[in-house]
Amino acid sequence: MFTIKRHKTRLVTIGRVKVGSPAPVTVQSMTKVRAADVKRTVRQILELEDAGCEIIRPAVLDMDDARAIKEIRKHIHIPLEADIHFAPHLALEAINAGTDGIRLNPGNLKDKNEIKKITLAAKKRGISIRVGANSGSIVPRHAGKKTIAQMYKHMQDLMVKETLAYCRHIESFGFHNIMVSLKASDVLTTVYAYRKFAKISDYPLHLGITAAGPIETSTIKSAIGIGSLLMEGIGDTIRVSITGNPIDEIKLGYEILAALNIRRRGPEIISCPTCGRCKSDIIGTARKLQELLENSDIKAKIAVMGCVVNGPGEAMDADVGIAAGDDYAVLFKNGRIIKNKIPFKSVISVILKELESSHS
Ligand code: SF4
Repeated sequence: MFTIKRHKTRLVTIGRVKVGSPAPVTVQSMTKVRAADVKRTVRQILELEDAGCEIIRPAVLDMDDARAIKEIRKHIHIPLEADIHFAPHLALEAINAGTDGIRLNPGNLKDKNEIKKITLAAKKRGISIRVGANSGSIVPRHAGKKTIAQMYKHMQDLMVKETLAYCRHIESFGFHNIMVSLKASDVLTTVYAYRKFAKISDYPLHLGITAAGPIETSTIKSAIGIGSLLMEGIGDTIRVSITGNPIDEIKLGYEILAALNIRRRGPEIISCPTCGRCKSDIIGTARKLQELLENSDIKAKIAVMGCVVNGPGEAMDADVGIAAGDDYAVLFKNGRIIKNKIPFKSVISVILKELESSHS
């Protein structure tokens, strides 16, 4: 099996989670309700924890959100990174409330003296700062049309330059618990920006494509953008952005990591696309198995194939699998058929039993 060699990055801590090599690449998400609504925020974070979320980021819009962090943290089990834009006083309040990390946007929180105050407060509390650049906010809003167009042409350089300068300013106060992100909604801009930054800095990188769209669009953009960087060994924590359910952000995050043999959460289902040779409900069976096993610790490769002619051979590397005949299926292990004539309606229970016996 091929494996990817990670770039060496500095190890940074956020709460009890380490980010940077050699720590595992973590998967994170944002809450999608107001932080001040503690009950709903906690409920969403606990659901995300169950799905495998390892760092959570609520948006902090006002003092109520910032203060709510204190109560939220009492009920959750993963580190919390407060997402701050524009308002330094909210960063300070979030730090006071016990946040594990803060994200500052170098495009809209620029006052050097305020950054100094935030950095010193973060240093005192031993929390992390993520310098999180976004293509949309790095270009000054007052710039003329022509200037904006020119800046967008060199967006990746601009993002890297501004982010690096921001890091240097924070470092000047003896603070190095820094992570960095350089997200654009354009995949290529994002990839170039991260690549460039990874060449000149060893700060751990939080990867993501910003405003990646609804699930179908985001899946493609994130798999290409985040995936190609990970393939090059770049990236220490990832957030898939979806206009939709945050649980899907976590699921997709793990799918990207699993596809690159970086990390797996639960088993891998390999199933054929079906064709005219298939006479059974392979689509429903594969989906059902995925649902049943999505929170399982079993690290097996499970094949669900539509015909006996090609199935076992095509899924030779599966630990266990079925290939369907007319109303029956065969069970195979490592490409070898071990049981014939299983009624198709019991294939799921047969697979589950097989998994149980080989993992007990
Ligand atoms: S395994 Fe069989 S049914 Fe599935 S796509 Fe291949 S040939 Fe078609």
